[in-house]
Amino acid sequence: MKSQATSSLPAIQSALRAVGARVTPARVRVLGALRAAPGAQSHAEIEEALAQEAHPAIDRVTLYRVLDWLCTAGLAHKAADARGVFRFSAAQPNVEHAAHVHFRCTGCGGVFCLKAPPPPAPKLPRGFRLAGMAVDIRGECPRCVRSHS
Ligand SMILES: [Zn+2]
Ligand SMILES: [Zn+2]
Repeated sequence: MKSQATSSLPAIQSALRAVGARVTPARVRVLGALRAAPGAQSHAEIEEALAQEAHPAIDRVTLYRVLDWLCTAGLAHKAADARGVFRFSAAQPNVEHAAHVHFRCTGCGGVFCLKAPPPPAPKLPRGFRLAGMAVDIRGECPRCVRSHS
């Protein structure tokens, strides 16, 4: 269950400010929709949820751009579901996500924070310079495991 507090307008505005971002109406609305959603959402589902609101529509290009930006900023996670459709979920607020690894559910596209630090980088051969590392941990979340047992 998502608490009302994290999807409130002030909470979303302060989350955007915390990453040093401009608080634009599109960012506020997309992050608000993700935080209010019960699970990971596809582009189409987010588009549909936003269309229900009284505000002017957000065009598809802007929506894609805002979603990708939210992922880069660490405010949202992206993972493919069982059909290969990308799904987005709000990152747990007030948590340093670079300090732990994430589990991506291949069933529902959900992304879960694990209480485990990322592994140390391997020793690189001479002349190589490390720019980044991503750990890809995949499987099924308890809800998806239960759904076919
Ligand atoms: Zn799942
Ligand atoms: Zn996390």
